[in-house]
Amino acid sequence: MAGTFAFAESRNGELRKVGFEAVTAARQAADASGGGDVHALIVGAPGIAAQADALGRYGADNVVVVEHAALERYSPEVVAATAAERIRSGQYRAAFFSASAQGRDLAPRVAAQLGVTLASDVIAFELQGDDVLAQHPAYTGKVIVTLRLTGVPAVLSLRPGALTAVEQPRSARIEQAAPAVDPASARVVVTELLQQTATKLDLGEAPVIVSGGRGLRAAEHFKLVEDLAAAFGNAAVGATRAVTDDGWRPATDQIGQTGRLVSPDLYVAVGISGAIQHLAGMRTAKTIVAINKDKDAPIFKVADYGIVGDLFEIMPRLTDEVRKARGSR
Ligand SMILES: Cc1cc2nc3c(=O)[nH]c(=O)nc-3n(C[C@H](O)[C@H](O)[C@H](O)COP(=O)(O)OP(=O)(O)OC[C@H]3O[C@@H](n4cnc5c(N)ncnc54)[C@H](O)[C@@H]3O)c2cc1C
Repeated sequence: MAGTFAFAESRNGELRKVGFEAVTAARQAADASGGGDVHALIVGAPGIAAQADALGRYGADNVVVVEHAALERYSPEVVAATAAERIRSGQYRAAFFSASAQGRDLAPRVAAQLGVTLASDVIAFELQGDDVLAQHPAYTGKVIVTLRLTGVPAVLSLRPGALTAVEQPRSARIEQAAPAVDPASARVVVTELLQQTATKLDLGEAPVIVSGGRGLRAAEHFKLVEDLAAAFGNAAVGATRAVTDDGWRPATDQIGQTGRLVSPDLYVAVGISGAIQHLAGMRTAKTIVAINKDKDAPIFKVADYGIVGDLFEIMPRLTDEVRKARGSR
């Protein structure tokens, strides 16, 4: 029986969905190795301890809470040292992080401090004997590489949304701990976190993403994409690089190799050709719907459902149908 570790990411004092995904993965790995304990770590400003019980709901047996006034925002050096110290002392089989913006900074630091290898941007994993096999998209998603992690612990960062968070309630023991290094000694300090709009759903958290491409022809036509997203009610709006480069949408909306990597339940691609660099960011979505007037557009190769036609005719009708189905008229 070997325990596992999960880093539960938070922002503004709230746990993030990717944190629950990491705990779910740790639970799966612990169960697969005979039912060891799952230890989760939360780091944040005083008050973050109130979030600890929620991790028990997703299968954590033990939650270590590190609260410090200087940790309201992510502190790369302090969080990495604290996570590495916990993992070192726990003799875990595997440690899970998110491949979110924060996790992509944190997980390599932790792996380096532990002197073990990291499988990053993992979309699936399994335990095989003493090893962990981790699948990870490479070459802009054209191939899925299976990595065999032989070191202990195996450190993995999970692509947001690739794994569904599952509630498996436990009454978690909650333990307070101090940061492994003094936050005052940190050389890198995040002074501000700018969010586009406080109410906007984050692309990494949204179960549905409606994305628009150059086929929309002008910035103002993105209203069609926004209307469909609003009709779903739980959707975020994404874009291709062609669109963000033209200034039709902010750079933060860009999905793809040089933008956000997303795995929503549903991805609707509107007027998007499906260039490999775009596919690299969204081809692991669970269901892909594409609307394109060119029946040979590459996006149809990855789409589960394709609508060949003029988006300007299709979008208002589709939005209407979604509104009716969701009863949100
Ligand atoms: C190093 C590098 C990194 C890159 N990183 C990214 C990245 O992260 N993300 C990204 O998205 N791109 C990236 N790109 C750019 C990428 O190669 C493509 O140029 C871009 O994705 C194309 O965007 P698009 O699909 O919106 O535009 P286009 O390729 O121009 O496609 C527009 C589509 O709209 C369709 N269309 C037109 N009118 C209509 C209509 N009325 N109804 C229905 N369909 C219509 C057309 O048939 C066409 O398929 C990168 C490129 C490079 C070189």
